[in-house]
Amino acid sequence: MCGIIGIISKKDVLSDIFVGMLSLQHRGQDSAGILSFNEKMNLIKKEGLVGNIFSEKELSELKANVAIGHARYPTIGSDFLVDAQPFMVSKPYEIGMAHNGNITNYFDLKKEQNSETDCVVSSCDLEVVLNVFAENLDENFSVKSLFFAVKKVFEKVKGSYSIVAVIKGKGLLAFRDPNALRPLIMAEKTVNGIKSVGFASESLSLTSTGHKIIKDLNAGEAVFVDSDLNVVSEVLVKGNPTHCMFEWVYFSGAESILDGLEVYTARINLGKELAKEWKKTGLKADVVIPVPDTSRTAASKLAEEINLPYREGLIKNRYIGRTFIMASQARRENGVRLKLNPVESEIKGKDILLVDDSIVRGTTSKKIVKLLKDNGAKKVFFLSTCPPIISPCFYGVDMPSKKELIASQMSVDEIRKHIGADFLFYNSIDALKKALEREDLCMACLTGNYPVAIPKKTETEFEKTRKEEQEKQR
Ligand code: SF4
Repeated sequence: MCGIIGIISKKDVLSDIFVGMLSLQHRGQDSAGILSFNEKMNLIKKEGLVGNIFSEKELSELKANVAIGHARYPTIGSDFLVDAQPFMVSKPYEIGMAHNGNITNYFDLKKEQNSETDCVVSSCDLEVVLNVFAENLDENFSVKSLFFAVKKVFEKVKGSYSIVAVIKGKGLLAFRDPNALRPLIMAEKTVNGIKSVGFASESLSLTSTGHKIIKDLNAGEAVFVDSDLNVVSEVLVKGNPTHCMFEWVYFSGAESILDGLEVYTARINLGKELAKEWKKTGLKADVVIPVPDTSRTAASKLAEEINLPYREGLIKNRYIGRTFIMASQARRENGVRLKLNPVESEIKGKDILLVDDSIVRGTTSKKIVKLLKDNGAKKVFFLSTCPPIISPCFYGVDMPSKKELIASQMSVDEIRKHIGADFLFYNSIDALKKALEREDLCMACLTGNYPVAIPKKTETEFEKTRKEEQEKQR
């Protein structure tokens, strides 16, 4: 999963890009990059966190009226700098591009492109998208040619991709794949008569800089904003929206609004759905405790619905990264140990209703249950807002191997025993759809039904690549 942002204006956009990228940091922590166009294309990308890696001098060199930024967590490709985004091409003219998603026919496209010339130099899937885009452009710039090239990308490139691109001297382009798997929002603001138009993975990164939401890009839509801030948009292919449910459940910031639904509201609804099922069990608990941070919202609603106190029995060390997006198991396990500190007075002698957003590998859940019991919890009843995850994601979330997913290997009761809980309950798929107030969802990791077909070869290659990368990182 990654975060992207692009802004164009008649004045410098760099500070808005930088602030917007800070707001997207939760989507990727391995590397970040900014590409801008002033008199020339400027590109700086580095490993590390957005707030740490750019010097004042570099930021001042990047100042421009159009720029894109990217915060990266690798799925295809490693977290080494060669794979960091944005990427650039110089033919037929200079273009800088960044994306959020995962290309499912990446290996075929890479092979095809390398059979003509050895042009694919990285392991980052954006590179093959950019090549398809560039090779379908006319020598001479026109919006028509730009949209033709995007249409070719839609035809040829499979998987999930939300994209922003700077077209040198011409403007800013954004487009969203025909399944609209990853979010992409458009917003604008006018300050002292000067307008700016932005695109980003999440609304919070644009609203935090004063932009007002205009719309979510539709499935298969492209939008081009020229240097005079004229906007042209077109749905280029018939889309079939299947938005990633995990954006609302786990990934996106609670204050973001994605495809018309506030993430916070979705999580409140998920808590309400948990409460309905908990009431049916006849079990009694003393307190509701969330696993911080994502599940707080659902846990607070659950507590309200069942008239139990809501307490922060686990305090998160805010300087440790999100466990799930740490790239290797070793880093993940360390992360769990370092990340959460128990508040003994809220735990000791109590029957605890513990709420988490999901159980992916089970590693974290097991350690948290142990942590609570080691600190005197009598019983731990574990509720997950997300239904059991049984299949890998090929669209950008790092859970590539079926073997790593505990719910694909064990029954609910076996998982309960494995993690040491006294009771385990997941929201159902119907409850999830109700909470997200929609049917147009990707739920492939819950059902095994992939909205964009996954070739067997891709499945094997993904698994192999991820294993190699995890080995490198140990
Ligand atoms: S498979 Fe799961 S995590 Fe991946 S895009 Fe679909 S819903 Fe999201």
